[in-house]
Amino acid sequence: MTDDCLFCSIAAGDVPSDTVAESDHAVAFRDVNPQAPTHVLVIPRVHQPDIGSLAEAEPEATIDLLALARRVAEDAGGSYRLVFNTGADAQQTVFHCHAHVLAGRELGWPPG
Ligand code: 5GP
Ligand code: ZN
Repeated sequence: MTDDCLFCSIAAGDVPSDTVAESDHAVAFRDVNPQAPTHVLVIPRVHQPDIGSLAEAEPEATIDLLALARRVAEDAGGSYRLVFNTGADAQQTVFHCHAHVLAGRELGWPPG
């Protein structure tokens, strides 16, 4: 838990969220500003700023997060996209690692 981290507070249950699934190391909840019919964020319980840092420091949590993201995506049905915005120029705004699971509509490419 890192002070002043929104997603640490959500993982701890101190800030409410629309939780859709949980695992030992990860929590999945609906994005407050959805960009697709299914838009779920999957975060590790531990604080790491991005997916690369998480993979290096917490490989077990990384695999667990990816497995939870897959479960959420498959529950949505059909094709899906998993996005890790990493760094400010990639539009990362919350610096606690999170996967966006996007599904439920045709997803364009390139993503912009
Ligand atoms: P990023 O831009 O860092 O890749 O994604 C951060 C995401 O967090 C955004 O899609 C934004 O809508 C979402 N978000 C920001 N604040 C909250 C919040 O308080 N609750 C939820 N559920 N999502 C949030
Ligand atoms: Zn955090």
